[in-house]
Amino acid sequence: MQQQIECTRSDAAEDQSCEPPSTGRAEENDTLRPAEKKSFTKWNDWQWQIRNRIRRIDQLGGYISSITSQAELEKVVEKYPMAITPYYASLIERPDLSDPIYRMSVPNIQELYDPMCLSEDPLEEHCDMPVPGLVHRYRDRALLIATTMCSMYCRHCTRKRIAGMRENSISPRRLRQVVEYLNMHPEISDVIVSGGDPLTMSDNAIESVLIALRSVPTVQVIRIGTRTPVVLPMRITDELVNMLKKYHPLWINTHFNHPKELTDDAMRACAKLADAGIPLGNQTVLLKGVNDDPMVIEKLCRGLIQTRVRPYYLYQCDLVRGVEHLRTSLRKGIEIMEYLRGRVSGIAIPTFVVDAPHGGGKIPVLPNYIISMSPTHTVLRNYEGLMVNYPEPGFESSTVGPTVDSDPDVWQLASGNADAIVPMKNPRMKRREKIEAKSKLVEESGLLF
Ligand code: SF4
Repeated sequence: MQQQIECTRSDAAEDQSCEPPSTGRAEENDTLRPAEKKSFTKWNDWQWQIRNRIRRIDQLGGYISSITSQAELEKVVEKYPMAITPYYASLIERPDLSDPIYRMSVPNIQELYDPMCLSEDPLEEHCDMPVPGLVHRYRDRALLIATTMCSMYCRHCTRKRIAGMRENSISPRRLRQVVEYLNMHPEISDVIVSGGDPLTMSDNAIESVLIALRSVPTVQVIRIGTRTPVVLPMRITDELVNMLKKYHPLWINTHFNHPKELTDDAMRACAKLADAGIPLGNQTVLLKGVNDDPMVIEKLCRGLIQTRVRPYYLYQCDLVRGVEHLRTSLRKGIEIMEYLRGRVSGIAIPTFVVDAPHGGGKIPVLPNYIISMSPTHTVLRNYEGLMVNYPEPGFESSTVGPTVDSDPDVWQLASGNADAIVPMKNPRMKRREKIEAKSKLVEESGLLF
């Protein structure tokens, strides 16, 4: 039986009117255009955005006239709630599943397809909850589900079983129980505040969570997991940032999945957080039809580092019910990692992980860079296909040294009889040849520069 966190109704949720903006329908191409945004004087008010989230399928029709099969989508929303901020809806360019923003936010009838391999809680978080709402899996870390509310309900959410089912935040009594548990477990030095999306809570509610966590002397690092800079960037107010920076060391993990999400507003929100000394990491979920393309991930990662957000994890989609249509093969993730290495800087390359079913934790998955091993040498390959041997310590002197001048094979590398196998027409080697020729000329001419 799944444990429930004891909650109080969220402040933001109390405000909610569920009414669409009065001029919500875009005539020109079914999306909310920038000109229309200006007509909402409160567009940049995050509480207005929350109050005006699209919650019902008939409201969605107000934004996207081509929405058909309303009755079917209503069945989906009954099972998995929908909420889309007007801001995020305005990023939809094509009102169909070929648009990544649409695909991540608008319900799809395929969410009702449930193959046997899927479950509500594939990471078995409820089995690792010593206190309802607090997941203690790794020895030194714990995750606190501080709210079940998000400003947008991502169709690919791993916590579909709780996100938006009731929009509640943790109660003071439950928070005290969490603090009690943390005090009894000094090995926990890092707490991740998650949800739902904790930044949908009021500043005061977030601050009480931070004060509670900071009251535990053994909690060194606090991290917040949030999609707010992506779906509700106006929530990153000066007041919020000034409050957050009182609780350093505080880290924030964002959740950008597609370069289209890196709008000026989103980048400004991240800059505010970074300027407050909050290190930012990003967790991307690999999603079919959204970002399962090496070039899309490359563009996203390049954009993130320009925004001072370090790509942290690229997640294989969890085996969660309602998400099968967005799941990619593991092969696709490996292909993307292969593509990134050598093409973009190491700081722009996330770690590709599978969050293991049965609560096994994150398992990094890499292309295979180890070609062969012998007692004396390991044969490695790089992104270009160059193969080199790496001599083990103590063995260098006992090997005969490179003896093969051309066309060595892998065994010759592994036995220390060759240094490297270089792919033909390697552009880096060609560059080196030019540099070498130039240096020779300089040397001959006796000029230094
Ligand atoms: S913001 Fe996070 S918790 Fe909320 S629906 Fe999206 S993925 Fe799930």
